Amino acid sequence: MLLNGNSMIDSLDILIRGLIFDKSVNIIAINGRKMVQKARELHELSRVCTAALGRMLLQTAMMSTQLKTETDRLTNIISGDGPIGNIVCTARPNGIVKGYVVNPQVELPPTQEGKLDVAAAVGRSGTLTVIRDMSLREPYMGKSDIVSGEIAEDFTNYYFFSEQQPNAIYLGVRVDTQSGEVLAAGGLMLMPLPDCPDYVLDELQTVLPKLQSLSKMLEEMSLESALAELFDGLGFLELERLEPKFECDCSKERLISVLAALGKEELRDMAEHDKGAELHCRFCNQTYKFSEQELYMIIEETEQTQQNDENFS
Ligand SMILES: [Zn+2]
Repeated sequence: MLLNGNSMIDSLDILIRGLIFDKSVNIIAINGRKMVQKARELHELSRVCTAALGRMLLQTAMMSTQLKTETDRLTNIISGDGPIGNIVCTARPNGIVKGYVVNPQVELPPTQEGKLDVAAAVGRSGTLTVIRDMSLREPYMGKSDIVSGEIAEDFTNYYFFSEQQPNAIYLGVRVDTQSGEVLAAGGLMLMPLPDCPDYVLDELQTVLPKLQSLSKMLEEMSLESALAELFDGLGFLELERLEPKFECDCSKERLISVLAALGKEELRDMAEHDKGAELHCRFCNQTYKFSEQELYMIIEETEQTQQNDENFS
């Protein structure tokens, strides 16, 4: 049994999109244990921050299914009044996400029920912002108030009031109390289509309490098996299957253009006084070092491109 259990836990992350209730309700489900574990390792997250950032990453990965082209981006920001500070997550299409929390090492005592106190960490008031940057269109920005700091409820409220979309969202991250390792991370979004009949909405209400057990189920079984169990007899139809990942798109190349944009004066100053520069990517916690020579090379390159531009103008 133990062997079997371990092999399940080591299976790849997966995101499944489909329909249930006779094609009248959209469903997105994710098993993102590895994704959340990677975030924990990169940012050295405390237990409560693993749960908070983990829930945001799961939600952001599920929302990435709305992105259409390779350059589309989605950013979710929770700015609560709790001690962990802002949580920022960005998605590319197909469930590729990155994210950070401002104070990743803040730890809080568990709740009376022995659960990680995500609400106290995030804060019970503040704002949730969703930015969709789709090609050929002006970026869309939606905002709503934080209602509980539990993140799933905050997104449910966001969809209902900001996008007039009724929905049910579950997000759960289970963390080993001793080691802090991620045992399971799962999420689910249910969104009735506009013509969804009333009896389906009623039936949906009876399914919702069961969803709370998803992350516990994922400790022992695959996402497919969990969905089969949760929605048994409700006509689940799979439409798409993706492999979500925590992956940052930063690189030294990209940061050279960031430096170049500072301008020659600033770069010369950095080279002369600081003898180099250090840039830090918040999303993956990586530091990029630029030597004095490298800075002079960037100055030279900007001068050349400027001259070329002048020659062509
Ligand atoms: Zn990065």
